[in-house]
Amino acid sequence: MNALILVDLQYDFMPGGALAVTDGDQVVAVANRLMPHVDMVVATKDWHPTKHMSFASQHEGRSVGEVVQLDGLDQVLWPDHCIQGTPGADLHKALNTQRIHHVVRKGTNTRIDSYSGFFDNGHRQTTELATLLRKSDVTDVVVMGLATDYCVKSTALDAVEFGLNTTLINDGCRGVDLNPGDVDRSVADMQAVGVRVMDANRWIDESGRTRRD
Ligand SMILES: [Zn+2]
Repeated sequence: MNALILVDLQYDFMPGGALAVTDGDQVVAVANRLMPHVDMVVATKDWHPTKHMSFASQHEGRSVGEVVQLDGLDQVLWPDHCIQGTPGADLHKALNTQRIHHVVRKGTNTRIDSYSGFFDNGHRQTTELATLLRKSDVTDVVVMGLATDYCVKSTALDAVEFGLNTTLINDGCRGVDLNPGDVDRSVADMQAVGVRVMDANRWIDESGRTRRD
């Protein structure tokens, strides 16, 4: 069994959103194209309470992009984004949500951020994603979404840690690049632990061939 993990395809990460990723909306079509070729589709959603501690607004005198310590972890400060129940937290309307089997919410604990779809950033609590994949006998995951250098990277690294064969769809991702080169370094970090990197067309082509064999 394989599963497509769509990371945070929410309005706040799209152009015009609170934490816009350049060309973030371009990946929605890639997600839709991949869906018919996988056994299961899971979408993660960043889903923050209003006073989430990853928001610069919660730290007096601090601004977006600064790094603070939060319960012993480095935390980049972001604009308020993906607040539970707000339009910014919605999945992009062009996304074919009928093909999404499960939505996994993360970042719900005020005190700790969660870039990965599997764990919070301190690896203290898991989401239901790992259980869900295990129950469904998923062995292979295909990861794409926003943003390459944060939530996509953390999700892919954790997938490897869970023993899943992990592929990153590079044309299905866009990054923040807070520091120039962050995106390239993230891809290298993923490859270093065994994540395969390829574009959607090649993945579809290869998966089709495997199924026919
Ligand atoms: Zn967030």
